[in-house]
This record gives sequence, C-alpha cells and structure tokens, in this order.
Amino acid sequence: MSKIKVGIVGYGNLGRGVEMAIRQNADMELAGIFTRREPEGIASAAPMIRLSEVEQYIGKIDVMILCGGSATDLPEQGPYLASMFHTVDSFDRHAKIPEYFDAVDASARKSGHASVISTGWDPGLFSLNRLLAEAVLPEGNEYTFWGKGVSQGHSDAIRRIPGVKNAVQYTIPNEEAVRQVRSGNNPALATRDKHLRECFVVAEPGEDLSRIEQEIKTMPNYFADYDTQVNFISSEELQDKHGSMPHGGIVLRSGNTGNGSKQIIEFGLQLDSNPEFTGSVLVAYARAIHKFAQEGFVGAKTVFDIPFGYLPPKSAEQLRRELL
Ligand code: NAP
Repeated sequence: MSKIKVGIVGYGNLGRGVEMAIRQNADMELAGIFTRREPEGIASAAPMIRLSEVEQYIGKIDVMILCGGSATDLPEQGPYLASMFHTVDSFDRHAKIPEYFDAVDASARKSGHASVISTGWDPGLFSLNRLLAEAVLPEGNEYTFWGKGVSQGHSDAIRRIPGVKNAVQYTIPNEEAVRQVRSGNNPALATRDKHLRECFVVAEPGEDLSRIEQEIKTMPNYFADYDTQVNFISSEELQDKHGSMPHGGIVLRSGNTGNGSKQIIEFGLQLDSNPEFTGSVLVAYARAIHKFAQEGFVGAKTVFDIPFGYLPPKSAEQLRRELL
C-alpha cells in the first residue's frame, strides 16, 4: 500500500515535533515542509519550500499538518489551506474554537476537502476524556489542571506583543486544589484558584516594561482570568534556565452513582516534550482524516467526531483482537 504523503506548514517547535513523529510511523512519508521564511536558511532533512508556492503541491500531498501559532497564524492559514488540502491542526484558543471551526468547515466544504481542527492534548486528548467522563458520570464535576509546564500557546501569545523578543510561560497547578478534588469533596474552584501563570519575558532594548506587563496581564482568553506573575530576564537566562518544554496535567471527574457512591475518573499526562507529544497526536489524526477523506467526507471535524479506531494504522479486526 502506498504511504500517506504528509506536508508540514510552519516549522517551529511543533513543526519539528511533527517531523520526528512522522519518522515513527511507517505508513507515512514527509513530502515537504512549508514556511513563510527563506527556506535556504533553515536546516531540515526534508525539502523546505516557500509557503507562497504551496498551490503547486495540490494533488501531491495527502494531508497538510498545520503547525502555525493559534494566535494569528491559524485563523488565516487554517481556512486558506483547507481550500487546497485535507488538513489537521492544533488550534488551542478554546473560546474561539466554534468560530474557527465554522471558518475551516466552510472553506473545506467549498473546496471538497476534509479537515480536523483542535487536535493535540488540550484541546485534544483532554477534551475526549472530559467528554467520556461526563457521559459515564452525569452527576458530578469536571476539573482540568495543567502543568507544571510551558504552555506553547501562551508563550506564543506573549511573543506576539510588540516589544517582546522572547518569552516562556509556565502554568502551575494549585496542589491543594488537586488534593481536594481527588478526595471527592467536589470543591467549587474559580479559574484563579486552580492555577498560577508565571511568565519569563525578554524585552527588546528600550521598551516600556510596564506597558508589556499590562498587555500580558489583561490579555483576554489567555491571562485576564488568572493570577499572573511577569518576570523580565535576559536572553541568556531564558536560554539557560527555561530552554526545555515539559508539560502535562490531569483531567478529573468526581461524580456519584447509586446512593452516593463516590466515583473518580482521572487521566494524566507527564510530558518531557510538549511539541514532540503534540506532534505525535497530530500525526495520528492526519491518518484518521485521510481515511475520512478517502471515504468521501467533506468539511471539518473535531476530535469528538473521529472514532478511536481511525487513529492507528491497524485494521478494525486487528484492534478487536489485540486491544479490546
Ligand atoms: P512556534 O515555535 O512559535 O512556531 C509558530 C510559527 O512561527 C511556526 O509555524 C513558524 O512559521 C514560525 N517560526 C518558528 N520559528 C521561527 C523563527 N525562528 N523565526 C521566525 N518565525 C518562526 O510555536 P509552536 O511551539 O510550534 O506552537 C504552535 C502552536 O501549537 C501554538 O500556538 C499552540 O496553539 C499549538 N499547540 C497546541 C497544543 C494542543 O494540545 N492542542 C499543544 C501544543 C501546541 P514559519 O515556518 O512559517 O515561519
């Protein structure tokens, strides 16, 4: 059987994570990496191509994996690329997902392509676990804790503020809040009670630091609802102390059945590398949307609309035998 030809759009942390993940999947091959930058200056084992030439690859790539940032890249690139290719992305601005879905869906329907948006681990695997737990335990409460880890979406959002040279943002769960949830007490936790956001920011020389700090702390959807600490540091310190990208977290549902039996469902991730893991999820969903496209599906889907059985390369018969 011929391999699934995959393209990557955007070659940042996530793009490199996807590149590595494709190597671990024998049914796929990397056809090219598309970037808005000068391709000559970027080292990679795969062909590096100008994004402005992407139309020449229509019909030559089975699925395009979009690795641009959610803040400003994907709202433009998602609908644009869905007009030419089947696509997968990890759009992670939760409040904007319905709007983004509609834009990608409209473009994919018009062009006859299939897309799956907002895959990854959150949104993505965590969303699936929230859905599963709610369906099984209708009486109960859902809790998601992230970290401690670097949030690429939040770091990316800070980096887009004028005057910011580089930034890393850590999401830190409140341990006492986690303990309360695990004990089955069903605490009422405000967004602010569950996490702290800690930012390490390198500013361009001469910038007004208090203006940057204000822009971070008041940014809607990202920081406005949290207690946020902003620390300005040098490029060297950022590189030395904040260079790796660990992450993780837990999704919990604490519910009751029968005459008050406590039931706790917990799903957790501990990730050495967030982009390598997210890249691995995107690749599995690229296979799934390829199968849907082959079956004639047109439009957009989310992880809720993709059966687990479409994710691995194994047949349904093999999965029944080995994993059920
Ligand atoms: P990133 O490293 O900042 O890359 C974003 C884009 O910036 C790249 O696609 C690339 O586009 C450009 N870029 C990268 N390095 C550059 C450089 N040295 N100079 C100029 N431009 C550069 O962001 P990321 O860490 O890959 O994360 C991308 C997105 O993934 C995040 O915004 C987040 O939304 C999402 N994410 C989602 C999940 C999830 O669970 N759903 C998890 C992790 C991340 P060009 O190649 O076109 O220049």
